Amino acid sequence: MRKTWPIHGGVHPPENKQQSLRSPIRPAGIPAELVFPLSQHIGAPAEPVVQVGDTVLKGQKIAEAQGFVSVPVHASTSGTVIAIEARTVPHPSGMDGRCIVIRPDGVDRWIDHAGVADYTQEEPAALVKRIREAGIAGMGGAGFPAAVKLGIKPGTVIDTLIINGTECEPYITADDILMRERAGEIIAGVKILAHITKPKEILIGVEDNKPEGIAALQQAAAGTAITVVPFPTKYPSGGEKQLIQILTGKEVPSGKLPADIGVVCQNIGTTTAIYRAIVHGEPLIQRITTVTGHAVREAQNFEVLLGTPMGHLLALAGYEDGRAQRLIVGGPMMGYAIPHPQVPVVKTTNCVLAPTVQELPPPPPAQACIRCGMCAEACPVSLLPQQLYWYAMSKNSEALQHHHLFDCIECGACSYVCPSNIPLVQYYRASKAEIRLQEQEKAKAEHAKQRFEARQARLQRIEDEKEARRKARQQAAPSTAGSNTPEQQAIIQAAIERTQVQHTLSADPAAAAIERAQAAREGRSVADADPLETARQTVANTEKRLQVARDKLAQAEAEGSDKIEAFRTGVEKTAAKLQEARAALAALEAATPATTPAVPADDPVQAIIARAQAKRAGETVAEEDPVTKLERLLASTEARITATEEKIRVATAEGSDKAAALQTGLEKLAEKRQQLQAELAAARTQTAQES
Ligand code: SF4
Ligand code: SF4
Repeated sequence: MRKTWPIHGGVHPPENKQQSLRSPIRPAGIPAELVFPLSQHIGAPAEPVVQVGDTVLKGQKIAEAQGFVSVPVHASTSGTVIAIEARTVPHPSGMDGRCIVIRPDGVDRWIDHAGVADYTQEEPAALVKRIREAGIAGMGGAGFPAAVKLGIKPGTVIDTLIINGTECEPYITADDILMRERAGEIIAGVKILAHITKPKEILIGVEDNKPEGIAALQQAAAGTAITVVPFPTKYPSGGEKQLIQILTGKEVPSGKLPADIGVVCQNIGTTTAIYRAIVHGEPLIQRITTVTGHAVREAQNFEVLLGTPMGHLLALAGYEDGRAQRLIVGGPMMGYAIPHPQVPVVKTTNCVLAPTVQELPPPPPAQACIRCGMCAEACPVSLLPQQLYWYAMSKNSEALQHHHLFDCIECGACSYVCPSNIPLVQYYRASKAEIRLQEQEKAKAEHAKQRFEARQARLQRIEDEKEARRKARQQAAPSTAGSNTPEQQAIIQAAIERTQVQHTLSADPAAAAIERAQAAREGRSVADADPLETARQTVANTEKRLQVARDKLAQAEAEGSDKIEAFRTGVEKTAAKLQEARAALAALEAATPATTPAVPADDPVQAIIARAQAKRAGETVAEEDPVTKLERLLASTEARITATEEKIRVATAEGSDKAAALQTGLEKLAEKRQQLQAELAAARTQTAQES
């Protein structure tokens, strides 16, 4: 007999298995309605591939797996999809989940399907793919996708393939009766698994409270490399890690998987489903479910179509409504209550328990922990349940994780032995859910932070690229200029000078007028505007502004306003500008080659304006006598001297750097005045002698 290893802790609750083993497996038939939750497994829910109103065949895929850890869902009989909606699903919370609802047509017509003629000629990967497509998830209760467990990493050596026939939970006999009645299918399934995993040894672990099942398996496995290993009954020996330890003496480290220590473990029911998928091409659409408890007259095992409401099975088993204190999915240790009997059978439903109040009385009120330590003695994972309880009460997530809360298999052995009737396992379930939620929130926040940082980095990169391009353009600019031909450089220089002249002209109307006149004389092009017209316009505009300024001053004086001084300054400045504009206009007209009119005038500036207007009007202007002309030029020069002196005064007051240049201009004007005065005196003397 093969050696086995004991595990820590464990308990021996009443087994209550015999009542459901009195009769053989019974087909449950086709109910009036089938309900298929999209999440019957650990992992992402499947997504419907049918619509309301579609007709489907038995074995047809009605929902597709989403992601690696997920499995598809198949119709368990032919019929019509009548709804895709939320229905109550088997879950400890009693929650609703999305389901596909099918009304059977009663024909039970299969979709075309076929198995593999000789699986030994198939690659393991191809067989694993078929297992995945068949929608097989762990049928012992966990619902972990079988294909994921069998997707062994390349290079991993599997020492031991273990088939779990323990079924340690009280009341449940689905695996036991499968072993008794269909040992051949189980062994055929084990051989397929052995072909996929290539283990060094193959073990089927069965508790010694199932002698008929053990005998049937041993008979079916005779002559093969498969060893059936009976071992002493103790709850919860059926936990995956516990069974591995019992059969191999190896412990799966915390946070690791069995494959990490060279072990693959599959349930008896799952092994049978794999056999049917590979050899017959049938997806997982039915299973064996125990219906038991004192509230049913005939406890037994049913071969039931997935999606069948549990009430249908209870009715077949002679359920006496009102006798059960509650309906439980699973056993009394790890099971959970459901809110009503319309909850459907799914891939993991191994038992529907309808206990009477006498049979499973409600637990008495919890008392304070007396620190007896019995929970720690019972724990098969060697945890410290009372410590976990304290930390769960104080919501100390860090301490809970530090004390390996997630190694707890929720077997309920600690609650079972607790003399204070503390529902310890309920605290652990709630704490696990809370921590998972916190971690999801944390992951979401981290994800959002990473997205924000990535965005900032992207924006910074774009800015850096822009800056780099700008600098490159700057560096490229001088080298481009340097490559111009001398002719091009001359054109560029002329353009620059023109631009500078334009700026000067726009800044100083008088200088503009003079410059334009000189340019006209020299045949140069400075600007399109007529300089004389511009100068006249300047005078006219300045006269208007002066009038407005005088009006404002008059009004302010009449009102006794405190702005009188400001307006007066404005009038003075505008008057100075008008004088300046008039002088500029006079100088411009003097510099323009023309036949000047012999217009005598007391005011030389007015005389200049009159001559210009006569010329513009096309009138013939008489030649001026020398004295008159010199007087006009002298008056114009004196006006310019006055305007320049005013400019020097303003520039000096403002601290402008133009003062020096203006001073130089003033000195030249003074020389010119002196020269004109001398010429005028000579002209007058000559005129006097001639007369
Ligand atoms: S068995 Fe109950 S009373 Fe005893 S130490 Fe554990 S939690 Fe406390
Ligand atoms: S429920 Fe968890 S803590 Fe309690 S005995 Fe089982 S494994 Fe240990």
